[in-house]
Amino acid sequence: METILSLRNLDKKYGRVHAVNNLSFDIQKGNVYGILGPNGSGKSTTLGIILNVVNRTSGEFSWFDGKMSTHDALKRVGAIIERPNFYPYMTASQNLALICKIKGISTDKIDDKLKTVNLYERRNSKFRTFSLGMKQRLAIASALLNDPEILILDEPTNGLDPQGIHEIRQIIKGIAKNGTTILLASHLLDEVEKVCSHVVVIRKGVKLYSGRVDEMTASNGLFELKVESDEEKLIKLLEDHKGIGSVKKEEDLIIAHLAEQIGSSEMNAFLFQNGITLSHLVKRKPSLEQQFLDLTANN
Ligand code: ADP
Ligand code: MG
Repeated sequence: METILSLRNLDKKYGRVHAVNNLSFDIQKGNVYGILGPNGSGKSTTLGIILNVVNRTSGEFSWFDGKMSTHDALKRVGAIIERPNFYPYMTASQNLALICKIKGISTDKIDDKLKTVNLYERRNSKFRTFSLGMKQRLAIASALLNDPEILILDEPTNGLDPQGIHEIRQIIKGIAKNGTTILLASHLLDEVEKVCSHVVVIRKGVKLYSGRVDEMTASNGLFELKVESDEEKLIKLLEDHKGIGSVKKEEDLIIAHLAEQIGSSEMNAFLFQNGITLSHLVKRKPSLEQQFLDLTANN
């Protein structure tokens, strides 16, 4: 696997604010990464550091296996970390042509990139006539003009209406499908869930989880059980069951967390064969939202 970016023990302090705290993770080619955390958790600061617009306090980061300077590496990166300034009285195409001129890159790809962000039909409209969502899409097109290997977006759907949010997410997924690696910062769990394959969860600059989005949600779930009698025998049976990770009592319910997948009827049959008749059996899975809240809870 090809590593696009590595962070090692990255740290940033603004006076007494520890914005990024010993952060390490890797970005592999072809994946879609989300940096997920509540407001003020250090997402934008992290992006600023790797894009050389914020100075780190300590730690390291390296682009493309450290084979080139950060200055050269950033030519292969497309990023939108603040609302870009386009000229209101110039059209979409004219604005992109100007950016190509400033960056010293060919204008050949302008139409292609306008198509990628669904703005080709509006290419001759003045920027000032664009909705917020269209402005954001033009910003994405501008970040793609140099065919970057990785596209970096900070809160790409902030401030947009539901339709605009959906459209941006579809476009990001399309760009990823074509092989461009993506790193986006978001405070929205459902955005990361919908768009990303991988996630780094941070709170107060500290990494809480990094890995695949689907593995973050890979809890096997739990059983709630109740019996009228023989509760101790039930607890013993559950504790001795190899598919059960932990057993605890919550008020009048027994809660058994699963270490592997077990269906309700399978569990019911197993207990019945061992002389237990349940009065209550429910299988539950903590929602992703609950897992995220547990992960970022202030405790
Ligand atoms: P996020 O993008 O996750 O909302 P930020 O990276 O913007 O978080 O901010 C992380 C922390 O650093 C916050 O406490 C914020 O107030 C602080 N911070 C960010 N930028 C500055 C700055 N230029 N000067 C002082 N404090 C800052
Ligand atoms: Mg931010």
